[in-house]
Amino acid sequence: MISNGAHRATGERFPGKIDLVSAMLGPGGGGVKTRYLGVIFIAAVLVPSVLLSVLSIRSAGREEAYVEKQLTTTLLAEVAHTASMVSEGVERLAGELHASVSVPPPNAVQAALVTWKKRNPLVGVPYLLSTEYKILWPRPDGNLGGAERLFLQENADFLSGRSTTPVYANIAIVHKEEVLGLAKAAAPLARAATQAAPSASAATEAPAPMQAEDAASSTESAPLQGQRAVDTFAQNAEVQKKIYEQARQQGEQVNARVTQPTSKALEAANDIGPTDRDLKAPTGSQTRPTTGPQTPPSGGAASAPAGQPSLYITTPRLLSQIASQGEYGIIPRFVGEKLTFLFWDRLSDGRIIGCELSRTEFRQRVAGILPATYSPVRILAVLDEKGEPLAVPAGAAGRDWRRPFVSQEIGEALPRWEAASYLTDPASIRNQARSTSAVIWILVVILFVSVAGGGTMVLSSLYGEMRLAQKKASFVANVSHELKTPLTSIGLFIDLLRRRRPPDAKKRDRYLALMAAETERLGRLINNVLDFSSQEKGRKKYAKRIVDLAQVADEVVEGQRVRLEGLGFAVRFICRESSERAFVDADPEAMKQVLINLLSNAEKYSTTQKEIEVEVECAGPHAAAHVRDRGIGVAEKDRERIFLEFVRVDDSLSAKVPGTGLGLTIARRIARDHGGDLVCEGREGAGSDFILTLPRRSGDEAKDPGSRG
Ligand code: ADP
Repeated sequence: MISNGAHRATGERFPGKIDLVSAMLGPGGGGVKTRYLGVIFIAAVLVPSVLLSVLSIRSAGREEAYVEKQLTTTLLAEVAHTASMVSEGVERLAGELHASVSVPPPNAVQAALVTWKKRNPLVGVPYLLSTEYKILWPRPDGNLGGAERLFLQENADFLSGRSTTPVYANIAIVHKEEVLGLAKAAAPLARAATQAAPSASAATEAPAPMQAEDAASSTESAPLQGQRAVDTFAQNAEVQKKIYEQARQQGEQVNARVTQPTSKALEAANDIGPTDRDLKAPTGSQTRPTTGPQTPPSGGAASAPAGQPSLYITTPRLLSQIASQGEYGIIPRFVGEKLTFLFWDRLSDGRIIGCELSRTEFRQRVAGILPATYSPVRILAVLDEKGEPLAVPAGAAGRDWRRPFVSQEIGEALPRWEAASYLTDPASIRNQARSTSAVIWILVVILFVSVAGGGTMVLSSLYGEMRLAQKKASFVANVSHELKTPLTSIGLFIDLLRRRRPPDAKKRDRYLALMAAETERLGRLINNVLDFSSQEKGRKKYAKRIVDLAQVADEVVEGQRVRLEGLGFAVRFICRESSERAFVDADPEAMKQVLINLLSNAEKYSTTQKEIEVEVECAGPHAAAHVRDRGIGVAEKDRERIFLEFVRVDDSLSAKVPGTGLGLTIARRIARDHGGDLVCEGREGAGSDFILTLPRRSGDEAKDPGSRG
């Protein structure tokens, strides 16, 4: 009843303050934050790691295509380089032949030509033409060998200007105006499409780059224009289609290429973007406009598999037309299916000297230009007009040479010849892709597990921290409440005692007794808080000695009896008659603190049935002290939890009773520090039974403290 009065008094003396503290620090405030924590975890950890995993797994699925694309790009670059080396090599051969030429004396033409052939193994069948393109040597009426006769048979008409030969040239250069025109016509459409979406200001800026481009094309040199046409042609499938169509309509011969590359990345070339250019762009020598040795006519193109059209188209030219454009050169000529090479060189006197190149020597010299042809990744080859490699690398025989991984035509100087690259082990792409995607999978799983696991751990520790912070906050509110309550009561009684008409002696004794009880409660609370803090820091010291637990309990009960009975409690102390006594090695003050805490709880949590029972018994190696009540009891699920710091049972009955949630925590710690324990059990009927157990010692040790272990 008194405590009710005290509560009222608190409310009056400190109006609204405690409510405010509880409102600020109460469980509700923290609840909102922990909910946010879940959302933050999902948004900042879970969603990004799921997205990352999905992206990585998707890219693992496309690994094979990526590997193939990468390999295609690399090998195409190498093939392009090889083609350019071979083209330059052929130019060098022409230069070498030019350097070896000397003007034959009119009276010893044959001897001079024979010497030339002997000195230079590249020279197959030498010839000499007059300024009017009359064949001076080999003379049909002369004493000729088989090779010379065949040579005349195949070349006499062309050399003497009676027939033309097809000259090879890059289609994009031949049709450069049309290529650039088509590209320009397509550009405004593409530009309009990209500008439809962005802002109006961007659209108004559009004419500037167009004008700049127009100006550039009008002032550009012919080789630069040719280069631009070649690039545009290579990058634009639509332009290619139209130009090939146009060339055919104009009667130009568009041949098929010898090889059909197998790389799938080439088919999807248009999606590859930057590598697009690498896929089809010709080599340096190919992009050079028709300078250097001109390629004169020859027979029709050999039969070829129906594949991609060749980049080189032919136009018929007379030898005189070709020779008018330079000093010397090599003309590739098809005679039937056979490709021959005619070297020509205009002498200072206007006559033309030249030779059909020795096929064997020419092929050997070209093969010598090639870089290492065999590597663990690829086999590099130069294919002739029949699609046969110039040299077969060891271990590469028996493959279909017309189906390389990637290939490229060499250039005008070597029509239908291609530089080609073959995968040494075609299954390696798949294997490499498989192992890469396996690694990606493993990494994704590790990443996901560590992100999700780490995130969950961080979250749960954060959650724990927040819960603890909440508990501490409510503890602060509870402690302040608990401190104020006895103080207010004491203040109230002091006021009563000071009144002008003092109360009678009986009342005064009662007030004093109540004040003493409140002071004791205050002391207990402060002790608990101090104890908790020293236990936390590990600084709690015990003065242990052998004591009789029953005796300690009896003292505590007797100390509390008057007060409890004054509050209407029936207090019973039971100690079973036994020859043995409950000796324990303990700090008696600490034991008293445990029992007082338990008695105080029994008092606080009893409602109508006010019965407290303390019993000490010996059970085997243990001594046990029970503190029983018939109060509100503790639900089974809470019987362990209530020993955790700051934990108070969250039901309407407990909530009415003020408390800090520390009493049991401290009591159990003390019990455990003494090698014992404190547990809570239910009781038949109603109420709870708190049991303090401690290891028993023998009574002899009490008499002889020195023998203790
Ligand atoms: P406090 O009593 O200050 O809240 P304690 O640590 O002593 O802190 O007790 C923790 C909780 O255990 C109490 O809030 C109460 O819910 C429950 N409890 C303790 N003793 C009893 C008891 N004898 N009967 C019912 N419930 C109890």
